[in-house]
Amino acid sequence: MKKILIAGGAGFIGHHLCKKLLKKKCLIICVDNLSTGSVKNINEFKTNKNFKFIKKDITSNINISCDEIYNLACPASPKQYQINPINTLKTNVMGSYNLLELAKKNNAKIFQASTSEIYGDPINHPQKENYWGNVNPIGKRSCYDEGKRSAETLFFDFHRTYKLQIKVARIFNTFGPNMDTNDGRVVSNIINSCLNNKNIHIYGSGKQTRCFCFVDDTVEAIIKFMETDKNILGPINIGSNNEISILKLTKIILKLTQSKSKIKFMKRPSDDPVRRKPNLSKAKKILNWKPKTSLEEGLSKTIKYFNNL
Ligand code: NAD
Ligand code: UDP
Repeated sequence: MKKILIAGGAGFIGHHLCKKLLKKKCLIICVDNLSTGSVKNINEFKTNKNFKFIKKDITSNINISCDEIYNLACPASPKQYQINPINTLKTNVMGSYNLLELAKKNNAKIFQASTSEIYGDPINHPQKENYWGNVNPIGKRSCYDEGKRSAETLFFDFHRTYKLQIKVARIFNTFGPNMDTNDGRVVSNIINSCLNNKNIHIYGSGKQTRCFCFVDDTVEAIIKFMETDKNILGPINIGSNNEISILKLTKIILKLTQSKSKIKFMKRPSDDPVRRKPNLSKAKKILNWKPKTSLEEGLSKTIKYFNNL
């Protein structure tokens, strides 16, 4: 049976990835330090004999035999990754390095959950994989942005140096059930506020845009990517290309929750990207994939999840 190590498997996307891969009859070894993930996200797998959890930080030495590695370990929300920025950078650089060494030792294929933040506050729009981005190297977001960029460099250098099989995906904003209610991302924040009839905080004018992809679609693309030929390395953008302003997103959530919450406009954080939208041509051509879930459908499922907590 294929042995798959999922670093960050107790997080939001990690939960859905573990769940989907367990259905494929694989042995899953979830390695997570539970910093932003939770036991709640892996509780349902505990009785599955094909699931093993190891509480561990990827910046420490790892020696586990495996055939495939998915690296999802890293805080993903700006609020979370800025709490301990040095640790975020260490996770991306030292953690990725440790997992790459482990992949080399096991001759294992390795996936990297990179990010749209690679493009920073993008000047080119929509963002194609050959765009080098516009990142402030000394700003508050750079522990994440430059960390993920360095991780991509490490992945490609391990490939060039050791012929390691790598798969680098640039994931755009993903949402869905099992997001941590308090992790500070816009979808969870607005749903929380609406369900509790509290003020909704929009940072800036709300005219900034993002494209929100439902987690089932993102996970489907991740697995499809991992199954591609060994000459397919990426980077490949994964996400939705339905661009929407934060104000419009807020209005949709207000309607779906039938909430009486009021909008309060707050100060916009520094380096917050003005707009973001992936060019998905590569994903469509190479993975034969595009997101299926509409924003309203995905939001309804997420609201239901938050309502039942
Ligand atoms: P998440 O915070 O829910 O999950 C991250 C997981 O990694 C958590 O379980 C956390 O405990 C674990 N972790 C963090 N640092 C670790 C370390 N040093 N050692 C071991 N475990 C560690 O975030 P998510 O949304 O599930 O994101 C998963 C991955 O996908 C991240 O790498 C993130 O950068 C990437 N990504 C996510 C999005 C998104 O919109 N959700 C977008 C782009 C990229
Ligand atoms: N945002 C907001 N209110 C919130 C949380 C976020 O207006 O409660 C804004 C944030 O400034 C950004 C967008 O929503 O412009 C998306 O933020 P998120 O943290 O979810 O993701 P990212 O900035 O990493 O794309």
